[in-house]
Amino acid sequence: MIIILRHDASEQDAQEILQKIDAAGLKPLHLPGVERTVIGALGDERVLESLHLENLPQVDLVKPVLSKYKLVSREIYAQDTVVQVGNTPVGSEQFTIMAGPCAIESEDQLLETARYVKQAGATVLRGGAFKPRTSPYSFQGLGVEGLKIMHNVGKETGLDTITELMDVNDLDDVARYISAIQIGARNMQNYTLLKAVGETKKPVLLKRGLSATIEELLLAAEYIVASGNPNVMICERGIRTFETATRNTLDLNAVAFIKERSHLPVIVDPSHGTGVRTLVSPMAKAAVACGADGVIIECHRSPKESVSDAAQALSPQDFHTLMQQLAPFVAASGRTLAEVAHAS
Ligand code: PEP
Ligand code: MN
Repeated sequence: MIIILRHDASEQDAQEILQKIDAAGLKPLHLPGVERTVIGALGDERVLESLHLENLPQVDLVKPVLSKYKLVSREIYAQDTVVQVGNTPVGSEQFTIMAGPCAIESEDQLLETARYVKQAGATVLRGGAFKPRTSPYSFQGLGVEGLKIMHNVGKETGLDTITELMDVNDLDDVARYISAIQIGARNMQNYTLLKAVGETKKPVLLKRGLSATIEELLLAAEYIVASGNPNVMICERGIRTFETATRNTLDLNAVAFIKERSHLPVIVDPSHGTGVRTLVSPMAKAAVACGADGVIIECHRSPKESVSDAAQALSPQDFHTLMQQLAPFVAASGRTLAEVAHAS
């Protein structure tokens, strides 16, 4: 429910209504605007109706929030949310480049990759320490050792960092060493994990599940925000369809749709979205055009030696070319590429 107060309502009026909502066992939200104060009330609609807030003199209008997801909806917050990943703001005016290997393989590999992605214009370094592999016999990641490597490389290069968290038991380590947490496609509906990252204030990149609908994705984001963490970014990384020519089908409809309905930043992953190296650059440009707030791209210093996702990894030269080609698209969209922090 959204409660819009009258122009002349005071801060005290707002506080009284917030208390009424709280006393009824519902979740009150204080949303002071430039022109008017708006109050949100989340919970059992029948309890809300029984409060008859529309009869209070300081209330102008009471209207239901129609979408199932509430906190992530533009019905509640109309403006774009900007999520701060270390020194990198994500959302609104910025177009953010996150890049790095699929998996952290060694300090040497990550540092070399970090240097060239930074030089080409990325501000956030990606790389998995805990890898969700289809086969139990494939490389599973370096674990906590990988997190420490990423931490050192981030410090050395001044890049912010992002890595996937698969297990709640690793949350403290990931939060200690890394700027932002990635929840992978396979865990999009792992509600225990979503609630756990929701109890931190760490930025979270929530990837769309392989067969998840947009509504399921936004409800998964709602879990994180409802648990207390507003710093959520959505990631479209392709879905399973009947198509087999590409690894996944990058659903750019979802980007435009989510930008319309939700205030959260949306990042596109054209690497997993296509699974094909030559398609990464065209789909990154398409991501800019449909309103995404950034891209996350897999790179490897020697793609054919990549221990995972080699077919979609970009070489240093490929990444450099992609960035050069992307820049005019970003400028044409009225966005700016985030500035890299100069720690070294
Ligand atoms: C990844 O980013 O390396 C990854 C495993 O992605 P997804 O969860 O989208 O498959
Ligand atoms: Mn990968």
